[in-house]
Amino acid sequence: MRVIRTVSELRSLLRTERLAERTIGLVPTMGAFHAGHRSLMERAVAAHAVTVVSLFVNPTQFAPTDDLDAYPRDEQRDADVASSAGVDYLFAPSVDEVYPAGFATTVSVAGVAATLEGAHRPGHFDGVATVVSKLLNMVQPDVAYFGQKDAQQALVIRRLVRDLDIPVRIEVCPTVREPDGLAMSSRNAYLGTDDRVRAIALRRALDAAEAAVAGGQREAAAVERVARAALAEYAVEPEYVALVATDTLAPVDRLDGEVLLALAARVGPARLIDNTILTTTDGAPVSA
Ligand code: AMP
Repeated sequence: MRVIRTVSELRSLLRTERLAERTIGLVPTMGAFHAGHRSLMERAVAAHAVTVVSLFVNPTQFAPTDDLDAYPRDEQRDADVASSAGVDYLFAPSVDEVYPAGFATTVSVAGVAATLEGAHRPGHFDGVATVVSKLLNMVQPDVAYFGQKDAQQALVIRRLVRDLDIPVRIEVCPTVREPDGLAMSSRNAYLGTDDRVRAIALRRALDAAEAAVAGGQREAAAVERVARAALAEYAVEPEYVALVATDTLAPVDRLDGEVLLALAARVGPARLIDNTILTTTDGAPVSA
């Protein structure tokens, strides 16, 4: 695996790959790799002759009060993980390489970026949309891979790719979890022993909501209450618990078809998010 620092080196290497008609998969990341990242890499490696993983802790998607300085960084370990997953190029540019002096452009997605994470982290999705637009232009992959754990981020990226006619297919991969169900996240590293136990509250809230729906509950407000009650059992106060349409993220009143249940909560020093898709098949036509 080759580590690349500059856009010009990346471009010249990938030009050669493209001329040889090798397809390119891109996995954008902020590093501190865990099995969730690895699953994305393995998907890309299985499907493409060339896999590029970008490793860039993007400062513009962090608010001044966020955890940019504390964000876990270990490039050597990350390089080992990526290499063992079969990645060809690890693109790990400096901040100046991505945002040179005079940088003045922001990609801002309206609609799906405004709610949930967007409402609680002002400017976050502008940073995400801008850096992902840049990475897609730098790498020009055939397919870019993202995780369902960041369900809203995936929707924001699908929207920007469509709106800006970026010629890439977006693939969204399932959430990889710890054995007890906690969604893997680089931010889990912030959890001390007691908070690690409490962090399971998020998965428990999703489980409780899924059980309520399986038991016939169709009122979104009632499902939300069940999820909140499960969080409260672990003394976890959510920033939001929302039942929303999977495509527009508009709030829903009744469950019908697929609905996204998304939640965010602080557990000690870590701000964690998780989600599940609640599926109801009432009234669906019976196939012959
Ligand atoms: P990050 O490094 O946190 O920006 O994540 C890089 C990519 O990995 C994003 O597309 C995330 O959605 C994805 N990802 C993060 N955690 C998980 C997980 N537990 N399972 C699957 N994908 C994940």
